[in-house]
Amino acid sequence: MVKIALQIRAQLECIEKLYTNHPHYQWFLKLKCNSCGEVTEKFHDLTEADKVPQKHNRSETNLLIKCKLCSRENSIDVIEGSNAAFTNNDIGKFKTIVQFDCRGVEPVDFEPKSGWIVESEDKVKNLMMWI
Ligand SMILES: [Zn+2]
Repeated sequence: MVKIALQIRAQLECIEKLYTNHPHYQWFLKLKCNSCGEVTEKFHDLTEADKVPQKHNRSETNLLIKCKLCSRENSIDVIEGSNAAFTNNDIGKFKTIVQFDCRGVEPVDFEPKSGWIVESEDKVKNLMMWI
């Protein structure tokens, strides 16, 4: 098992924090096969809440992928509890927002799509006024 962390860096203006709709967020990744070095042409998605059965044992995984070149079956999972928000305290640095448990593949590219949630500083101020 190899753990790989995905880190992002962002500029936030008037934003308190940025995070995904975990555990339903779809992580779109390009994956490299560790066996033959082949990189997938398209992005594959995995979601922590969605599990598929593995063929050779009874456990489940978030994404089971067969390498087009060497036919090896690889899998990748979102590590439970590894999700974190990017906050206005993290501006200017890279922050780990998720970690993957990789078996036979490693992510080489990430495409952020829909499913991000933003909390503005104003909203936080408003909430504080109501308390
Ligand atoms: Zn391969």
